[in-house]
Amino acid sequence: MEYDYDYIRSATSREAISQSGDYTMWRYRPFLPVEQDTALPPLAVGWTPLYSVPRLGEALGLSHLWIKDDGQNPTASLKDRASALAVAKAAEAGYDTVACSSTGNAASSLAGSAAAAGLKSYIFVPERAPMGKLTQLLIFGATVISVQGNYEQTFALSRDAIEKYGWYNRNAAINPYLMEGKKTVALEIAEQLGWQAPDYVALSVGDGCTIAGVWKGFRDLYAAGFISKLPRLISVQAEKTCPINRAVETGRPWEPMEENTLADSIAVGVPRNPDKAIAAIRESDGLTVEVSDQEILDAMALVGRTCGVFAEPAGAAGTAGLIKLCKMGKIPKDAAVVSIVTGNGLKDTANGMKAAEEPIRLPPDITLLEKALP
Ligand SMILES: *Cc1c(COP(=O)(O)O)cnc(C)c1O
Repeated sequence: MEYDYDYIRSATSREAISQSGDYTMWRYRPFLPVEQDTALPPLAVGWTPLYSVPRLGEALGLSHLWIKDDGQNPTASLKDRASALAVAKAAEAGYDTVACSSTGNAASSLAGSAAAAGLKSYIFVPERAPMGKLTQLLIFGATVISVQGNYEQTFALSRDAIEKYGWYNRNAAINPYLMEGKKTVALEIAEQLGWQAPDYVALSVGDGCTIAGVWKGFRDLYAAGFISKLPRLISVQAEKTCPINRAVETGRPWEPMEENTLADSIAVGVPRNPDKAIAAIRESDGLTVEVSDQEILDAMALVGRTCGVFAEPAGAAGTAGLIKLCKMGKIPKDAAVVSIVTGNGLKDTANGMKAAEEPIRLPPDITLLEKALP
């Protein structure tokens, strides 16, 4: 999507946006591809907190670290930003039914945004989608097709069905508006830092739509003259499912890999947005890093313990990668770093329990308690 930045500059300013009483992603409406009279979907998506996290920073040896907690969106992931825009565009175009396939969060966010706007939704998910995400879909009244296959096969079935039935298509990399919605996380980070880009932004990567959106957001702000430098992106993937990072690292075309990580939201072996993601990482002079499932679980526990933020595995994977790069001495200690928590841990408590310590179990007896306390 291309914008007329001179027009944006004439229509709004940093000051005007900062004074906006709209604490949702729609405060950036001049940067978004909707018509003046488009009805906006009702859920309050965006304007999630950017926390300064000194204790986590200390653990990593960083003096300026922030967590952007996008798990606080209405359906508890960053995907709400894309789905809100998709639903606005679907309604604008006169559709009454939307559809997508998803590893889980795009699905629950679309179902939620559609329900709030009064649209019907058809959702295709691989059968391994965690129970929390599946429950959200059903509660939001979506017609849910749980596909006995992997994400790639689920995507193919949804594509055929959408073509056959003529629903509005919210599939990643098919719908160009999704990235525009996702970019609002970058606009918020910049505004929340006083209209500045940080030096680094770390996040996890599956299809590649989110990282491409983050880059687009910073580039739009830069092109409009709202920020004066661009950040370097840190692309974090799972070590056994890292087709995008591998392509960046080897300089060769990306190749499919297996879906092999407990971080279901980034278990994407055949990414849908590889070109834009790879371009974003390269253009930003970005870094790539791969993490094991254990490193993801450790990061979940560390972020929870030091920040009070509960991330789902893919939501903590960005921080896991950052931790690894810090240990390798790749990030300057005084750099300004933002790590995006892309989804909330309550969606997947089974993996949360793997990351956590056991409780102290005992009968209701104060003497036993005294013995048991560390
Ligand atoms: C979708 C998702 C990602 C990755 O985004 P892509 O656009 O697929 O690269 C990361 N974390 C969470 C929680 C997600 O839902």
